[in-house]
Amino acid sequence: MRVGLGFDVHPFADDDRPLVLGGVTFEGERGLAGHSDADAIAHAVTDALLGAAGLGDIGEHFPDTDERWRGANSMRLLAAAVAMLADAGWSVTNVDCTVVLEQPKLAPRRAAVQDFLSEVVGAPVTVKGKRAEGLGALGRGEGVACWAIALVDR
Ligand code: MG
Repeated sequence: MRVGLGFDVHPFADDDRPLVLGGVTFEGERGLAGHSDADAIAHAVTDALLGAAGLGDIGEHFPDTDERWRGANSMRLLAAAVAMLADAGWSVTNVDCTVVLEQPKLAPRRAAVQDFLSEVVGAPVTVKGKRAEGLGALGRGEGVACWAIALVDR
């Protein structure tokens, strides 16, 4: 068994792109800036899984300098990482995430986010929302950060 830790952060965008977290579009909410769809939860989970399996990181496999990943659906990148783990003989036991965000509230979409992530990962993925209590950039609501920890087995 091995564990992996993933982290990601994206600032909110100035243009009107959609907010996507864990593959779920949060209708009517301000989106995050990034080369792909800026799905901070999907990116943190991808890095946790790759790290657990010793398979590098998301930037190595899906570089933000590559035009193929512009506007990419990050759940597809996550699915590709899960396939890499399977090819290397790893199965995922579970993943747990903490998302730090002031707005919007995660709770109403939490079940949908967990269900979609669990489906793509093929194992239970749990997500907890947390506020930064006004401290720093996250506390000022300037972006969204996510930590994820994964347990894998072979
Ligand atoms: Mg990212």
